[in-house]
Amino acid sequence: MSSAPDISYILNELGEERENYFNAVSAPIIQTSNFVFKKVDDLSKAFEDEMGGYLYSRGLNPTVEILRKKLAALDGAEDCLVFNSGASVIFAGVLANVKAGDHIVSVKSPYTWAQRMFDVILPRFQVTTTYIDGTRIENWKNATQANTTFFYLESPNSWDFAIQDIKAVAQFAKSKGIVTFIDNSYCTPVYQDVIAMGIDLAMQTATKYIGGHSDTLGGVLSGPHAMIKKIFDSEYLNIGSGIQPFNAWLLIRGLRTLPARLDRITRTTREVLEFLKTHPKVEGVIFPLDESFAQYELARSQMKGACGLMTVILKTKNRDAIVKFCESLKHIMMAVSWGGHESLVIPKCAGIPAGEFDGNNKEHRYVRLYIGLEEAGYLIADLDQALAAV
Ligand SMILES: *Cc1c(COP(=O)(O)O)cnc(C)c1O
Repeated sequence: MSSAPDISYILNELGEERENYFNAVSAPIIQTSNFVFKKVDDLSKAFEDEMGGYLYSRGLNPTVEILRKKLAALDGAEDCLVFNSGASVIFAGVLANVKAGDHIVSVKSPYTWAQRMFDVILPRFQVTTTYIDGTRIENWKNATQANTTFFYLESPNSWDFAIQDIKAVAQFAKSKGIVTFIDNSYCTPVYQDVIAMGIDLAMQTATKYIGGHSDTLGGVLSGPHAMIKKIFDSEYLNIGSGIQPFNAWLLIRGLRTLPARLDRITRTTREVLEFLKTHPKVEGVIFPLDESFAQYELARSQMKGACGLMTVILKTKNRDAIVKFCESLKHIMMAVSWGGHESLVIPKCAGIPAGEFDGNNKEHRYVRLYIGLEEAGYLIADLDQALAAV
């Protein structure tokens, strides 16, 4: 988009018509399944183009419309759809853009439920996937076949934060007529403008930073209006997994403080990172905006910021020591997900059968740490005592 609206305007005003609801500052939750018509002709029009107005809340809903406008603007996209989870965004966005016989190129180890779709569901419809190390543009070119129609990016990736040269991948895909889709959950559009970099479809889970309070799930799919409308008319209405009005309201509320939370988390994360990097029991920390990161220069050139997720590697090859560290934390909680107010830890070894743990495999030793909204000193003291217990 040419002249991007100010982020403060997007989060506080865009899409809100307060004069229509008693000048209330907070958006109304329009908790209805259906909408009334007076004229048969109007009903006919709604059947013809459900994206043109309110008919039934599986399609459009006024509370969700406020959120949709804000999220599309935040992405600098023409349009967007909000789903009831990030996983359903991935499902709809991929399904809408492949047919039997097509081939997908994806970054290796994409988000779990993207990988399950590629490995378990799509092969039943003769759609195949090649996983690549997406850090090198040559790998995208070399993996492209005559029947490749879809590129799946995730930048940065979970756990190792590998990134792709987004502009270069998007440019190559365009030259071949291949649709590009990126999981932008880590940065959010506040820290990484993927549509401006040439990506067709941008997704992010709203469960993480948009919601920000670990109390709702949601997912966002942004892109050109024509692509989004096609998905609305088919997959969105057919899967029936659009966001519900109350959850949309929670996400609007979360959006109000998104930049403030990201600012705070960025500062705290830097302090925690510096503490961990110099700690004698820590072998290393993986964080895309740290000078030690393998793709630091590329990260700096395409990311305006990083979130509070990092991977810590302890100086031990012993699974019990990693377990001891995680279980010794008194304030940092052990749970999946991230992006909320609470700091979290999760060890990779929890997903590996104990007999298969290999201390010589660095990845097996990964401990993912998410920094929330607590005071830096409070978190550092907790990490310090847990490291002392190892
Ligand atoms: C959590 C997550 C998702 C899935 O989002 P849900 O809202 O949990 O369905 C997708 N991608 C990444 C990177 C995530 O962290």
